[in-house]
Amino acid sequence: MKETIDRLRSQGGRLTVQRRLILDILESFSGHPTAEEIYAVAKQKYPKLHLSTVYRTIRWLEQEGRLSARRFEEDNRQERFDYTPSEHHHFQCSICKDVIEFESPLMNEVKKDFEDQKDVLVETASLILYGTCKRCRQLFQQEETPYTGK
Ligand SMILES: [Zn+2]
Ligand SMILES: [Zn+2]
Repeated sequence: MKETIDRLRSQGGRLTVQRRLILDILESFSGHPTAEEIYAVAKQKYPKLHLSTVYRTIRWLEQEGRLSARRFEEDNRQERFDYTPSEHHHFQCSICKDVIEFESPLMNEVKKDFEDQKDVLVETASLILYGTCKRCRQLFQQEETPYTGK
């Protein structure tokens, strides 16, 4: 957190109270909030805050490479914001829409393989896998109790 603030300051970013508050919220959020979700939390602490300030701060952090926008769902392509700094990938459950972050060393092989095939330079990767999460699978299995009567 302190590192982020120092870096943003050194890059000439103006760190206002509002921006600092939004950074704090992003830090405490687990998962990938929408701008409206960030705004709802921020407004409790700073009632005068405008949604446009949230968007401006998000775009600024995006430019600084500190945050990235993601769209997970095929049907509801709502923009969500990812504050996890390292390269990582996502799994989304098609039933409950939960998103799980993961890292995979195998991605280096995928990058390398594609680079060799197409003679390109891959810089970053972001993979989204879709399926059914553990909890939803268990619920599903409970529902599918085998028939034991006659
Ligand atoms: Zn993520
Ligand atoms: Zn699920």
